[in-house]
Amino acid sequence: MRNKSRLLTPGPTQMPERVRLALAMHMIHHRKNEFRTMLGEVEIMLQKLFGTSQTVIPLSSSGTGAMTAAVHSLFNPGDEVIIVNGGKFGERWVHISETHGLSTIVINVPWGQAVSADQVRACLDEHPNAKGVMVQVCETSTGVLHPVKEIAAITRTRDVLLLADGISAVGISPCPMDEYGIDCLLTGSQKGLMVPPGLGIIALSERAWKRAAEIPVSCFYFDLIEEKKELEARNQTRFTSSISLLHGLNEALCTIFRHGENSLDALYHEQWALTCMVRAAIKELGLQLFAEDHYSWGLTSVLLPEGIDGTKMIQYAEDNYGVIFGGGMGDYKGRIVRIGHMGWVDWSDALAGLTAFAYSYKAVGGFTSSRSYLEVALDAYHTALTIEPGTPCPDSRA
Ligand SMILES: *Cc1c(COP(=O)(O)O)cnc(C)c1O
Repeated sequence: MRNKSRLLTPGPTQMPERVRLALAMHMIHHRKNEFRTMLGEVEIMLQKLFGTSQTVIPLSSSGTGAMTAAVHSLFNPGDEVIIVNGGKFGERWVHISETHGLSTIVINVPWGQAVSADQVRACLDEHPNAKGVMVQVCETSTGVLHPVKEIAAITRTRDVLLLADGISAVGISPCPMDEYGIDCLLTGSQKGLMVPPGLGIIALSERAWKRAAEIPVSCFYFDLIEEKKELEARNQTRFTSSISLLHGLNEALCTIFRHGENSLDALYHEQWALTCMVRAAIKELGLQLFAEDHYSWGLTSVLLPEGIDGTKMIQYAEDNYGVIFGGGMGDYKGRIVRIGHMGWVDWSDALAGLTAFAYSYKAVGGFTSSRSYLEVALDAYHTALTIEPGTPCPDSRA
């Protein structure tokens, strides 16, 4: 066993020490005041994080549970919905919707690319009966960021709900729900939020709540209307809460908001600078970034050259450097390495990750002539911290 291992996957992610300590706290009762006070504080911070004045609901489930709750709460079997499918998680919206008996219209987007707002508009024009649009804010299987703000600008002017899976975006890159006009934003605990897996977290807009009120309950456990009532009346969840995970979430949110009013801006800027750092190094190594211009601020996917076995490379990095990367999914298994840099990750983790990446790449037969990728990475990081986040990343030395 190595002394230290670094989890650089796009979920689960590393946890701050104060989160780990909170998870070890003695058990308290979920109907008593101590718990309700804690959940009330969590609620206020979740609203800030989601950028909403609506109630944000924690569910005891993985992120997919929150996706399921959204689909069951907002649509009736037979309803027509438009789904952006550009990877493994877009596919998941399709599966959940089909299971609920929805009629799905799928916009297939090549893996590695983002949908365009125009494509969504054209699809809505073609299907005027569509009741919803489902998309990932970040498609984690490819590292692509879909233009959710632009899509919301279209859906908010029509009688169509926009459901955004923000599992790998909330707490990583900006997605203020009310300002954009998103009708349902959801996430999970184990990515940007730095908590173990096991919480699904979801918020609905005012008009989505109105829609939900008209939909007969089709899933007893994920009844968002009942959950909302319980939270608003008593700061409780309807069933036994994931008490320990919520203690962890409380500490994670306190960590996120430790810089006061500027906390979210500072967090997103740091995430973006780490992204620029990793991207610059990958380019310097002569490798291909899978997501070219619409990229996540929390993970970087690298498309490996023909003949390089990504699965072997990832195993090598774990065995020899204690660095754990994510692999490719679906057709891209073995062909992509996904470097996670979301949550409790800093420049030194990124340096370790890039070192492990380059040496493991060479160990499985890859070639690079670069010896200065770490310097290039640090230069990009420092430059990115001095410019507006979200503008294209500075490529290399400033
Ligand atoms: C991780 C992830 C999921 C799946 O979440 P689970 O917690 O495994 O259910 C869904 N969508 C996106 C965008 C994700 O990143």
